[in-house]
Amino acid sequence: MDDVIQQSLLTVRDRVANAARLAQRLPESIQLIAVSKTHPADRVAAAYACGQNAFGENYPQEGVEKIQALAAYRAHMVWHFIGTLQSNKTAVVASHFDWVHSVDRMKIAQRLSDQRPVTLPALQVCVHVNISDETSKSGVAPAALIPLILYVARLPRVCLRGLMAIPSPNRSDQHAPFAQLRQLLVRCNQILTENNLPVMDTLSMGMSSDLEAAISEGATMVRVGSAIFGMRTPAKDAS
Ligand SMILES: *Cc1c(COP(=O)(O)O)cnc(C)c1O
Repeated sequence: MDDVIQQSLLTVRDRVANAARLAQRLPESIQLIAVSKTHPADRVAAAYACGQNAFGENYPQEGVEKIQALAAYRAHMVWHFIGTLQSNKTAVVASHFDWVHSVDRMKIAQRLSDQRPVTLPALQVCVHVNISDETSKSGVAPAALIPLILYVARLPRVCLRGLMAIPSPNRSDQHAPFAQLRQLLVRCNQILTENNLPVMDTLSMGMSSDLEAAISEGATMVRVGSAIFGMRTPAKDAS
């Protein structure tokens, strides 16, 4: 079983490295986040034993249970919350995760900042943008992005790092939504600079089926689940 995860991880790392080479980018400029939602903590531990240290979770309770089960490794792991976030779950996420990729409105961002424990470094956040053919209903519309970015950038206990998107896997043009997100990052960074605020350095885009297209369009983080851990049970895969 652990051999299966090891082999899958090697295959995914090869895909990342090949896509980086084709795009004339350094493989180290792309971080692999292993999306472990629906998979038990012992599978995460198996991936960790193969050198994987960044993990993504979609559901607050499930994620926190795994973080606590793997507390012995906590100092060497980076936990990313990538799922839709309701305001009644912001406190638990702010207390346990290192990153949140799914900030899509001011209220959520403000609660995360208010609730981030002072004993921890600032929470690293990406803003989820609902680009043209997004599957989910969440994410900020591109037209509303700039005011949200300026708001999040000024919150004291979060650090605005970038943009995230989840384009529909069934789209005709693999590249277009990723190129669109990259252009939005450039535009937002111009505005941030004009406002004397730090620029963003993260494009969280690309999953098991489209990480090559995402890397060719500038992804700095790819979120890969099934290609590492195998199939999920469909009932829990609706986020
Ligand atoms: C589940 C999920 C992933 C991983 O998807 P795979 O197709 O299994 O690689 C990535 N990002 C988000 C937001 C997800 O919900």
